[in-house]
Amino acid sequence: MTPRLRFAPSPTGYLHVGGARTALFNWLYARRHGGTFVLRIEDTDTQRSSDDMVSGILDGLRWLGIDWDEGPEVGGPHAPYFQSQRLDRYRAAVSDLVSRGCAYEDDGAIRFRVPQGTTTFHDEVHGPISFDNAHLESFVILRSDGHPTYHLSVVVDDIDMGITHVVRGDDHISNTPKHVLLFEAFGATPPRFAHVPLIMGADKKRLSKRHGATSVLEYERQGYLPDALFNFLALLGWGTGTDDELLSREELVQRFTLDGISGGNAVFNTDKLDWFNHQYLLKLSDDALVAHLRPFLIEAGLWRDAFHSTDHAWLVQVLALLRPRAQRLTEFATQFRPFCVAPTEYDTEGVRKHLSASDSAAHITALAACVTASAWNVETLERDLRALAEARGIKAAVLIHAARLAVTGRMVSPGLFDMLVLIGRNAVVTRLQRLARQLPLPVAPSAAAHE
Ligand code: GLU
Repeated sequence: MTPRLRFAPSPTGYLHVGGARTALFNWLYARRHGGTFVLRIEDTDTQRSSDDMVSGILDGLRWLGIDWDEGPEVGGPHAPYFQSQRLDRYRAAVSDLVSRGCAYEDDGAIRFRVPQGTTTFHDEVHGPISFDNAHLESFVILRSDGHPTYHLSVVVDDIDMGITHVVRGDDHISNTPKHVLLFEAFGATPPRFAHVPLIMGADKKRLSKRHGATSVLEYERQGYLPDALFNFLALLGWGTGTDDELLSREELVQRFTLDGISGGNAVFNTDKLDWFNHQYLLKLSDDALVAHLRPFLIEAGLWRDAFHSTDHAWLVQVLALLRPRAQRLTEFATQFRPFCVAPTEYDTEGVRKHLSASDSAAHITALAACVTASAWNVETLERDLRALAEARGIKAAVLIHAARLAVTGRMVSPGLFDMLVLIGRNAVVTRLQRLARQLPLPVAPSAAAHE
């Protein structure tokens, strides 16, 4: 039997990283075994569900590259895939249970008649789990307003949609005996269950907004790559049993097993996510990197259409300088700015340290003259700058620091000479001359200055 798995979000919030990880495990298992991955929207709580949340969830899944074989927008043999459109089906299922004495009316609502005994199921992650039915009250399956409860709709749909494996959060373990009893009451074999440990923040508390972003699309805005987040989430609570961590989608599909899901809670470590993102940034082709950066550069006002044509080769060389230092796409825009525009302000600490000597302006003027005459390549620029420093009886570092501030406004940048070559002679000379004219700049008072 080909496996059929589903991700069944309630659209009462954005796609949270925990939900995305659940979707991803279901998707990996379905892809691994040539099965079907169904997306079902559990929107029976009409007060709290919204179309915006549904689109946010679909966008989040698509951004992560989790595609669904049946569900919203793609349809399928078990449509509709929105629970709000299946109410008749739930009511019919409830009537069936009532007619067979498995459920009864109580004050306008319908309750499931929990039999005596013990309910046991095998959890693929936690092993056998038993509940004494005495602890399960005869729970409501249809509210007095005619709406089904989650327990009823989830089981009816899992039966109708032929779901063979349910992979979901640990927080549903206590619901599972109710579901197993319902499957049995409907004469259906329960699916295999795998309850995945929850995701915790660094403080070992359940991951929440207090720990930073939790919405998948927020990670997109923060400059993470979908493949990096995908790889990172796959390893939250699941492992290959080896040290292998950087795994492509294809490798994850090939290696995914329910056995590899650990019973212990998984900790969301942002430094680790940054590390993954850096690794994936290094692996991107130049064109893919440009495509990913485009929205960030547009937002920063730095995008030019010529980046696709005449300035493409230049852009690729600039990105080659920035890539080894960047962890997120957002950092590129900041680092990229000096390659496009002159600084409008200068780092005050840098000014105090490197531009406040009485002869700073003279050094920079001399440097401007020097680079005006220099051949425009890394080696010559460096040689000429060092020769100038020697001639003026100062350390080369004095000129290097001053030049970096003049050209970028900052104390930290990629290698100065690589950068100068790409910024271009005219811009470099203009920026040096402009700074020389502005000196001395007001120096921010610092602790050292008062000593
Ligand atoms: N709609 C439920 C939730 O979002 C689905 C749980 C399940 O997978 O059964 O938690």
